[in-house]
Amino acid sequence: MAGRTRYTSPLFLVTLVLTLISLSTAQAVIRWKIHDMERPVPPVVDPGGLGRAPSDAVVLFDGKDLSRWTAEKGGAPEWKVANGYMEVAGKEGLTTKASFGDCQLHVEFATPVPGEGEGQHRGNSGVFPMGLYEIQVLDSYQNRTYADGQAAALYGQYPPLVNASRPPGEWQSYDIIFHGPRFAADGKLLRTAHVTVLHNGVLAQDNVELTGPTANGVRPPYKAHPEKLPLSLQNHGNPVRYRNIWIRELKDAD
Ligand code: MG
Repeated sequence: MAGRTRYTSPLFLVTLVLTLISLSTAQAVIRWKIHDMERPVPPVVDPGGLGRAPSDAVVLFDGKDLSRWTAEKGGAPEWKVANGYMEVAGKEGLTTKASFGDCQLHVEFATPVPGEGEGQHRGNSGVFPMGLYEIQVLDSYQNRTYADGQAAALYGQYPPLVNASRPPGEWQSYDIIFHGPRFAADGKLLRTAHVTVLHNGVLAQDNVELTGPTANGVRPPYKAHPEKLPLSLQNHGNPVRYRNIWIRELKDAD
């Protein structure tokens, strides 16, 4: 063995360094020791159940009144409240009085009976986290439209993975996990928005990355905005009903 010449090529070194860098960026790091009894336990939450929100949620609509909402341009909302639901009415959408950022959002809706109109004109409304990023509400039960505009689409960006729509008049649910974008002080985009949607309990959007706010016919780029903004519901002129709306604000994991 004595006298063996060891030669390490520059290419090998470069490859080694690149591999180490890629490994270091691919590894998740947990700052706690495994099974550490000092690690804080999560808060206890009553999970609620049918028609009942989890105990740590903010209930935005409990079927009784619109006290947490205003009309989209301000002032009293015109939407009807009856029999435990609210129904799109008047000219404007609804906006929450409070602002929200990253969140888990539960919304139940029913499209009108009979299902009148075609395509985008049948049971159209929408859920807008931060008032900017629309998860489409539409009667997509046997109603063809463009894929990125059907129920549970991120409007104009992502069709849902499946069409899990129920017929007109039946109550349906969206469970939405929304992570908003982040901007530097100078307005530079630091992080894009990501959305997951379960439609009637079925995965419809799997952590999709938004290109910016949703819009009709265009995909506008991100424009800097605060970390929290009001949530809104769209008035598209169709008497869509909503009930049992609640939201849980999300914090970054420890
Ligand atoms: Mg819509």
